[in-house]
Amino acid sequence: MSKNIIIFFGPPGSGKGTQAEMLERKTDWKKISTGDLFRSEIAAGTKFGKSADKYLKAGKLVPDKITVKLVEQGLKQKASGFIFDGFPRNKKQLSQLLDLFKKVLKKNDRVYAIEVAVGDKEVKQRLSQRRMCACGRVYHLFYNPPINKGVCDICGGKLFIRNDDKPKVIINRLKIYHHDGEPILDYWRKQGKLIKINGEQPIRKIHEEIMGKLKELKLI
Ligand SMILES: [Zn+2]
Repeated sequence: MSKNIIIFFGPPGSGKGTQAEMLERKTDWKKISTGDLFRSEIAAGTKFGKSADKYLKAGKLVPDKITVKLVEQGLKQKASGFIFDGFPRNKKQLSQLLDLFKKVLKKNDRVYAIEVAVGDKEVKQRLSQRRMCACGRVYHLFYNPPINKGVCDICGGKLFIRNDDKPKVIINRLKIYHHDGEPILDYWRKQGKLIKINGEQPIRKIHEEIMGKLKELKLI
């Protein structure tokens, strides 16, 4: 049995995480998200978990070496496919992932990248409308507004704008996304393995398009 690997890619606010989850529910593929891997290793108190925890607690990025090791472990799970969300983020991580694929994948295994494409203008619009509550609930003033303005539906807390969603920070996040991400997209494009989806559509529509492309390619 050959395996399928799908790598989701898209700017902040593109909804690629939601799409990765929807695809996971429709298939028996397993999602590999570095954030989830860190959390579960930390909870299990493993060697990698402990060292990842040190970096995260210090507010630092976990070194690629640890991340790649965790991804390698993730790929050892029994599944007919894997869905990547949030990794690789830059060229260096991509080349480490390709090395890992060489080591663990078989000839018939198939790898595709899905770009959930959303323009900068739309990203800025989406993120600037996002509001948070201290209880963890996330709102969007347009798509998912609270019942009472500025107040959380669940706990009545006062809503605020996450630091990451402030205009200056959004511009910087987009700059990093383009700078680090373009070489990755280029790579998959040249391999003929890039599936580009218009991310400026309703969530369900994006999901249907993704499923349609995967069926066309006989991956599902
Ligand atoms: Zn709340």
